Amino acid sequence: MDYQDSLVFAQQLDAEDPIGHMRDAFHIPKINNGADEEIYLCGNSLGLQPKRTSEYLNDELDKWQRLGVKGHFDCEFPWMPYHEFLTEGSAALVGAKTSEVVCMNSLTTNLHLMMVSFFRPEGKRCKILIEDHAFPSDHYAVESQLNFHGLDPAEHMVLVKPRAGEDCLRTEDILQTIDDLADELALVMLPGVQYYTGQVMDMKVISDAAQHHNIPVGFDLAHATGNVPMALHDWGVDFAVWCSYKYLNSGPGSVAGCFVHEKHHDDVDLPRFAGWWGHDKSTRFKMQNQFMPMKSAEAWQLSNPPILSLAAIRASLDTFKEAGGIQALRDKSKQLTGYLRFLLTERLAKQVSIITPDESLSGCQLSLTIETDKTGRSVFEALEAAGVTGDWREPNVIRVAPVPLYNRFEEMVRFVDILERSL
Ligand SMILES: *Cc1c(COP(=O)(O)O)cnc(C)c1O
Repeated sequence: MDYQDSLVFAQQLDAEDPIGHMRDAFHIPKINNGADEEIYLCGNSLGLQPKRTSEYLNDELDKWQRLGVKGHFDCEFPWMPYHEFLTEGSAALVGAKTSEVVCMNSLTTNLHLMMVSFFRPEGKRCKILIEDHAFPSDHYAVESQLNFHGLDPAEHMVLVKPRAGEDCLRTEDILQTIDDLADELALVMLPGVQYYTGQVMDMKVISDAAQHHNIPVGFDLAHATGNVPMALHDWGVDFAVWCSYKYLNSGPGSVAGCFVHEKHHDDVDLPRFAGWWGHDKSTRFKMQNQFMPMKSAEAWQLSNPPILSLAAIRASLDTFKEAGGIQALRDKSKQLTGYLRFLLTERLAKQVSIITPDESLSGCQLSLTIETDKTGRSVFEALEAAGVTGDWREPNVIRVAPVPLYNRFEEMVRFVDILERSL
């Protein structure tokens, strides 16, 4: 698209945006005593609240008031199968069959549960490939799993790094590492979208390479789910985990998601940490203490889930559906983030670098470094003071993520105006 650097042009794009009305489905934080709306570019960290969320939560509180324990069964959206109301929407976001996804626990908990099942060191094959500077929680989870198996992380954690002087990982380097260490790797575990740079990993190609050598492959989709379309089932990914409070707009600390490929559902011998909610539904309440895992991703559930949090996820998934699904959002996202990239390049190329790769390997987020004598941190603080919410990530990056569900083209111009003044 031929972009122009003008407010009128941006407003024209908003007027023509087929999903521009979705912004009205969200609460936008206010500034100046409620007179103005923030420019909220932080949906990669905490997505905004859909207006229907409080209604969905109140329905459950109301049900609990009226029905007590009977809310588990004879009513609309009974609690007993409540997580099942989320599988269709979740599966659509990650490209899975409904039997392959489940909402449960938190992201890091799910990562551990998945590694219990899919990291099975044996003989020479006992290393895990992750990225250097993975998100700390992922790093700790992998390190502690190695320790748990009596393996020294210094030796068994293989870290893929960007090349000297580069910010992003090269797919070819990841593939080369997988090939070189094929006999030693027991797991490949990478992000779908890298949290610091915003780089979208080539999940299909990485999965192909791992499968070629029979190495299980899992992805952390914290920054990918609700951001970019995926096809986890077709790619043959073994497992994936994600949280629901970033692009999924389900509220702080809300319940996470998990994908387990169908090829593992019949394998009752997989090691796992089990709980009663993973047991076959038809006999769960017979209380016979003979664990029979369900033949779906639900088999990895531990506990009966927090319904209020699941209600928030249901509200969010209904909002995605109303917008026309992830492909419609991705189409707008390419334009919206593309427009921001255009404005930054056009106006501030000498003062601001974009470390996020080009459109083919990026989603909503752009990660910016400041190339003037001002520190990135001080520029970030000036942005905040002027009503822009992005976020700052140590050591050196301002992350901004225009979200197609609720951000506007006009905000891109206003953001770049403010950034220009802040410099
Ligand atoms: C946000 C994020 C997490 C958060 O983990 P929680 O268990 O939800 O606290 C983990 N990993 C990555 C890559 C993230 O971006």
